[in-house]
Amino acid sequence: MLEIRHLSKSFGRHEVLRDIDFSVRPGDVTSIIGASGSGKSTLLRCINLLETPTSGEILFHGESITGGKLNANTYRSKVGMVFQSFNLFNNMTVLQNCMVGQTKVLKKSPQEAKENAMKYLRQVGMEPYIKAKPRQISGGQKQRVAIARALAMEPEVLLFDEPTSALDPEMVGEVLSVMRDLAQNGMTMLVVTHEMAFARDVSNHVVFMADGVICEEGEPKALFADPQNQRTREFLSRFR
Ligand code: ADP
Ligand code: MG
Repeated sequence: MLEIRHLSKSFGRHEVLRDIDFSVRPGDVTSIIGASGSGKSTLLRCINLLETPTSGEILFHGESITGGKLNANTYRSKVGMVFQSFNLFNNMTVLQNCMVGQTKVLKKSPQEAKENAMKYLRQVGMEPYIKAKPRQISGGQKQRVAIARALAMEPEVLLFDEPTSALDPEMVGEVLSVMRDLAQNGMTMLVVTHEMAFARDVSNHVVFMADGVICEEGEPKALFADPQNQRTREFLSRFR
């Protein structure tokens, strides 16, 4: 579904990503792990066109997303994003948050957008809160709404950038549980996370990054049990 080929990204003279290569097949759940500053967010931002790669390419179903042939807005609507800080519209209700992209971008009728939004809000357990504003709900609930909002656009792949890092510890579980259900239902997901249990138990592929390069990647159980790279070993030892 996605192929990242020789992707590099610099900000001025600072090379933040160097020769990144990996691919995502439909139904893959890929966790991206690594220390802060290693380039994980920049990689996701390149994949959803929030940043332009300095070199290399990203293919979506074999077509370059930067090459011009594929329409940027069409592509963006197929790649959902969930942020650490939720990024909900604070002046809108939970339901409106999950409708606005559908009516504005996908040009759905309000009726259709509402039915679809309700379906996904039900899926994440937020149906009882449809009239609430973001400030009236907890962080975990906000993140579940943000996931429903992304799902309501019916993306082919969902990108998560540390979706539980801004949450109080007692709220991490409810968000991970929604993500685990999505993974089990076959959603293609790319997840930047510090939740090593999620990376090991839920994803089918793990990518370890350090200083803008992929140091090691592989099947999660093997990578966690027996990391081959010294930097992977050092990184993982902090979580034991
Ligand atoms: P991570 O998500 O792994 O913590 P980031 O992708 O956020 O890493 O950042 C990687 C490096 O790129 C950091 O050194 C950061 O300061 C730098 N960086 C990220 N965004 C920008 C930007 N817009 N301009 C300049 N430097 C940036
Ligand atoms: Mg980051």
